[in-house]
Amino acid sequence: MSLSQPTILVTGGAGYIGSHAVLALQQAGYEVVVLDNLVYGHRDIIENVLNVELVVGDTSDRVLLDHLFASHQIAAVMHFAAYAYVGESVTDPAKYYHNNFVGTLTLLEAMMAASIHQFVFSSTCATYGIPTTVPISENHPQDPINPYGRSKLMVEQVLKDFDKAYDFKSVCFRYFNAAGADPQGRLGEDHNPETHIIPLVLLTALGQRESVSIFGTDYPTPDGTCIRDYIHVTDLAQAHVLGLEYLLKGGDTNIFNLGNGNGFSVKEVIETARQVTGREIKTVECARRPGDPPALVGSSDRARQILGWNPQYANLQDILSHAWQWHQKRHPAK
Ligand code: UDP
Repeated sequence: MSLSQPTILVTGGAGYIGSHAVLALQQAGYEVVVLDNLVYGHRDIIENVLNVELVVGDTSDRVLLDHLFASHQIAAVMHFAAYAYVGESVTDPAKYYHNNFVGTLTLLEAMMAASIHQFVFSSTCATYGIPTTVPISENHPQDPINPYGRSKLMVEQVLKDFDKAYDFKSVCFRYFNAAGADPQGRLGEDHNPETHIIPLVLLTALGQRESVSIFGTDYPTPDGTCIRDYIHVTDLAQAHVLGLEYLLKGGDTNIFNLGNGNGFSVKEVIETARQVTGREIKTVECARRPGDPPALVGSSDRARQILGWNPQYANLQDILSHAWQWHQKRHPAK
């Protein structure tokens, strides 16, 4: 009898959150196969850090998926592969609906054809739209304000219907602001183009950017800048392992927010980054970025209660210092 753990397919495993999930799965003893089209993912992370089998391709490629499921004994799928630039989703919605929705539907159909009925899905707090109550719980109404959020919400709705019709079990995680990096410095955030506040602030601290733009100083928040709930990527990855184990033990379809329940303003993030890095970080106050809700803070009580999730790096200093360690290594001074 084999004592080895099941094999998990991780789509988007060469990306930021996906790669941290691969590491967490490996640490928990799982075999992993990664499917990634490498449009935004990093081959070097797969080959030099994670050492897992990489299948290069799209989730909308049914022939490739059928071959992958026929040639591997996959127990469950963790699905991170998606485009996630909110602004681009507004200017090129077809790209988002095709990859995030059609790609996911194709993946789900291929899974069912291969009798794989357990699925962990990366959703987002962007499915809530502008919150009417904060902290946001999973029962808050969903009314996304951009195609990115809508593409994720459509998948959530498909998953509910698939459970009813086909007994297909899923866990959806609605992330708040993923941030930070592997505490041991092996992995981190490396988007191209970079649009997220923490990497932009740290690249400015490194001298690789002139200044950070603060998008909006007239929000109805204490210092006028937007408030977000930053959650450490290693804590997110750990939640995925717990979600997977919940499904493998026969858990029912469920949806969980993943955040710390603490909000920090853009100005607080920049000030904390100055303390952590000891560097000057120039800022420029700019107009609001379209589509940004003033405050997004989540309640993750359900993940704590049902999955036993307990974030280890809940403070902003840890998040920033792990990200800083990674950025110094990934983008050394020229
Ligand atoms: N932000 C900013 N300047 C930047 C990038 C982001 O002021 O160069 C703000 C943005 O308006 C939002 C917060 O930082 O209020 C977090 O944005 P990010 O893009 O990191 O994540 P999002 O909340 O969009 O998922």
